[in-house]
Amino acid sequence: MLGARNRLKACPAYVAALTGATFLVLVCCAAARADDCLDGGRAFEHLRAMVEIGPRPAGSPRSVKTQEYIINKLARLGVEIGEQPFVARTPFGDKDMKNIIAVLPGKSRDIIVIGAHYDTKLFKDKVFVGANDGASGSGLLLEIVRCLALRENEPTYWFAFFDGEEAFVTWSAIDGIYGSKLMASRLYRAGEMSNVKAMILLDMVGDKDLSITWETNSTAWIRKIVWDNARKLRYGEYFTSQTRKISDDHIPFLNYGIPSLDIIDFYYGPNSLTNEYWHSPKDGLDKVSPTSLKIVGDVVLESLPQIYEHIKKDALRLPR
Ligand SMILES: [Zn+2]
Repeated sequence: MLGARNRLKACPAYVAALTGATFLVLVCCAAARADDCLDGGRAFEHLRAMVEIGPRPAGSPRSVKTQEYIINKLARLGVEIGEQPFVARTPFGDKDMKNIIAVLPGKSRDIIVIGAHYDTKLFKDKVFVGANDGASGSGLLLEIVRCLALRENEPTYWFAFFDGEEAFVTWSAIDGIYGSKLMASRLYRAGEMSNVKAMILLDMVGDKDLSITWETNSTAWIRKIVWDNARKLRYGEYFTSQTRKISDDHIPFLNYGIPSLDIIDFYYGPNSLTNEYWHSPKDGLDKVSPTSLKIVGDVVLESLPQIYEHIKKDALRLPR
């Protein structure tokens, strides 16, 4: 399979001359998209900055540096920034964690949450910087915030940078997705979950050899909108039919009945069939690309208004 970078370079622009008159015909692979705001290079610079901080496990000083980076970048984008600190009980004792939630008000009070985790898995015996698993989702999310802040939006967007997605020991009901579980339960207890209409999660979205998994816990109608838009933007080959059931930060929202989609490439290795680089020191800058971030970002930005249209139609169908 061609790498994503090469595939995009093939995008043509050409001049056609017809019947004596000259017509300028500009054709771009992504000509049908609503706008072309998303800059894969900007998203990649966020990713690189987080990788340069080093391993960023929840509760560590480097995690605090990552929080400062995210808050600093959000502050320049004109969004409201909420910090949600909490103490998580982990197999290694209590850890200070913090979700960062940016709010971009729309015309409606209906909320679409777009989330990504920024922590990296703790390894005591190896250096793990999580270029893809940690930095790609949160780096792309910062760039998505920038683009949506330039648009007039109908729904209100909440951008959730989750802490503590990774298990400290082994993934289980009590170890992992600390931040998303906390955010979802607090929303529910505050009676605010009814305003949340959908949740989109970005995780491991920077793989140079991009192959987004058909994640089967996710809500089918959101996945269909996203996959249809990938095809429309001529990115169809990167959104695969390889199915896998994955537990991730979307699960707490699904558990409260919120339609949710995990956009994740869980075949992160030297080919599209293995996950060899996952939780490995090989998950470095050389395995990720700005082009993959752009592909996913374009598809998300294109899909969001259609997701909201679906939500509104669904609301009309509900009995009053
Ligand atoms: Zn991970």
